[in-house]
Amino acid sequence: MISKNKIYFFEVEKEDQKLVSEKYPEAQFFSEPFSRELAEKCTDAEIVCGMVHSEFSAENLGILPNLKLIVTRSVGYDHIDLKFASERNIPVCNVPDYGSHVIAEHVFALLLSSCRNVLEGEERTNHDNFSACGLRGIALKDKTLGVIGTGRIGAHVCRVAACGFGMKVIAYDPKPNQELAKECSFKYVKSLEEIWKQADMISLHTPLLPETKHMINTETIAKMKDGVILINTARGGLIDTSALLKAIRNKKFSHVALDVIEHETNIKEDKELLHIPGVIITPHIAFYADQSMKNMYTESFKSIDEFLAGKDLGFQVQGH
Ligand code: NAD
Repeated sequence: MISKNKIYFFEVEKEDQKLVSEKYPEAQFFSEPFSRELAEKCTDAEIVCGMVHSEFSAENLGILPNLKLIVTRSVGYDHIDLKFASERNIPVCNVPDYGSHVIAEHVFALLLSSCRNVLEGEERTNHDNFSACGLRGIALKDKTLGVIGTGRIGAHVCRVAACGFGMKVIAYDPKPNQELAKECSFKYVKSLEEIWKQADMISLHTPLLPETKHMINTETIAKMKDGVILINTARGGLIDTSALLKAIRNKKFSHVALDVIEHETNIKEDKELLHIPGVIITPHIAFYADQSMKNMYTESFKSIDEFLAGKDLGFQVQGH
């Protein structure tokens, strides 16, 4: 029987404290990520629940002799030493989908801000300037959007673009979702070449894999239409930053909007990308909204409750 005061939450933001304390009044929570220093303060922990900055390494977890369950409120779990957990027979749970529509919504926040010069317009009115000169926008309807990767997030993007904005959507995915294509009246193309050639706007939604790393590079950029708009909310490593910078300087793109950049943990490396007109960069916040943050907690609570009730864990990390 696990005592509820042996449940520890990490990386709990002020806005979410109520959610945790209402659900588990006796649980302990910290705003900081799990670390060696914090592990020493909770050596009686039986359940730990954190986010991607929590270092659930063998070294840090090893000093929690009573640990029985690890929950991460994220999709990814590469911050958890699965080998250690498996050796100690400690199940690991994640949150496989906390609301992929939230990331898709951010794609359109970036796309619309870019196309309609929202930031430049705001800058002008902040300076008492109501001139529209130079701020003519780009409409979405009837433009061709190339969606690369139509998994959870890309599928929402296709749906909103085609059914909401009346865009012509073309998509590339090695595992096409023909049902989705039928539902939203869009077409899969057979190769990325067709995306580069036809798309007015391109949105990236593939995982970062050895074969997708730097898929946007000097060669592929050269094949794109002049004035193309590039949106990346997936992973920074999909784009070769130096090739991108060169193309931006050569006015290849009309707009570039990035929620993720190649060296986002050391932004200084990508600092040349900052403050360029026509380039919008947000600090990896596509996932960060009221509903998604709430879902991360409620889905994690499900795993904790299942564990406390001795039930099968619905979100146990596969193969573990
Ligand atoms: P998913 O696994 O549901 O979908 C990925 C899709 O990419 C799959 O359909 C897969 O077949 C396809 N794919 C794989 N290799 C490909 C290739 N070479 N070319 C084209 N498509 C390929 O993933 P998801 O949940 O939709 O996430 C997509 C991306 O978004 C991931 O990189 C993820 O890390 C990122 N992400 C970003 C944020 C954020 O806040 N910015 C939040 C969540 C996820």
